[in-house]
Amino acid sequence: MKAEDYCKKCPECGSVDKNIDIVKVPKKTEGIPEDVLKKAQESGKLTIIRCSNCRHIFEYAKDSKMDVEFKKICIQ
Ligand SMILES: [Zn+2]
Repeated sequence: MKAEDYCKKCPECGSVDKNIDIVKVPKKTEGIPEDVLKKAQESGKLTIIRCSNCRHIFEYAKDSKMDVEFKKICIQ
C-alpha cells in the first residue's frame, strides 16, 4: 500500500478512518496474498488494514513496521 492510499476513502462507505487489526491467521485464507500469508503463518499473526466504519478490508499488511508509518502519515 502506498503512503497516499492510507488516507483514501473507503469504497464501501466513504469513511477515511482505518483500523489496523492484528489477528490470528484465519482458516479461510482466500484473498490473502501468498507472500503475506507465508509471513503471517510464520509469526502466527496477520495484520489487516480495515475501514473503522464498515470493516471493509483495504489490505493485508506485510509486516507490523507499517503501523508506525501509518500513524505518522495520517496524523498530518
Ligand atoms: Zn467503510
